[in-house]
Amino acid sequence: MELELRERYARLQAELAEVARAAGRSPDAVTVVGVTKHHSPQTLRAAVAAGMTDLGENYLQEAREKFDAARDALVAGRVRKHFIGHVQTNKAKGIAALFDLVQSVDRLEAGTALAKAARSLGKTLGVLLQVNVSPTERFGCDPAQAERLAEALRAQEGLRLEGVMAIGPLAAGEAEIARSFELAAKTFERVGGSTLSIGMSNDWRQAVRCGSTMIRIGTALFGQRVRPAPGLRAAPVRERQKV
Ligand SMILES: *Cc1c(COP(=O)(O)O)cnc(C)c1O
Repeated sequence: MELELRERYARLQAELAEVARAAGRSPDAVTVVGVTKHHSPQTLRAAVAAGMTDLGENYLQEAREKFDAARDALVAGRVRKHFIGHVQTNKAKGIAALFDLVQSVDRLEAGTALAKAARSLGKTLGVLLQVNVSPTERFGCDPAQAERLAEALRAQEGLRLEGVMAIGPLAAGEAEIARSFELAAKTFERVGGSTLSIGMSNDWRQAVRCGSTMIRIGTALFGQRVRPAPGLRAAPVRERQKV
């Protein structure tokens, strides 16, 4: 698995460099976040061994168990941990404790809860403002409200607003994807910051052409996810129990 992942990561980086250069951008300007949700702690270790420096997870409990099971690798690899799932305010404390960058702050309530948790932990938590640029996406702040939310987030002690995140439209045509990413890029210009997190396995090339500085890649690196059935514990836990 590790060799195969190394190969996929190398190929992704090579293509990323090509797409960035063709768009007149530096390949170094785009960070790859490996999205390991619904993959095992072994996959996480393999990702670190392959040289990935940024990993993303969507679910607090799953991430907590997995990071714990792969702690040595994460520490040795100095991995930056990204939370990319919906922020429930009752999970804010756990999210603030476990992650370095929360990409999915889409309302003040979530920001306030994370700020309070960060302060109680004595840390400054990096956050991105998630904007909604697609009719297929449930979450995200209305782009028209983004500046106002950004201002309110910047006023929160304990948070450091680093930019904008958006999810492109699913199963959409090229033109619609480009329109969505252009809206995200325009919103990023108004909000400010260093990070525009747009682009996933199927649409990262367009995202890079629209100015993405961070792509979030799951399937193209780690293969298909096995979704745990509701109420059942996720695969990583079963693997851990076997040992
Ligand atoms: C799952 C997920 C990804 C990765 O998606 P792939 O299509 O597998 O690359 C990226 N961003 C977010 C917010 C996700 O939930």
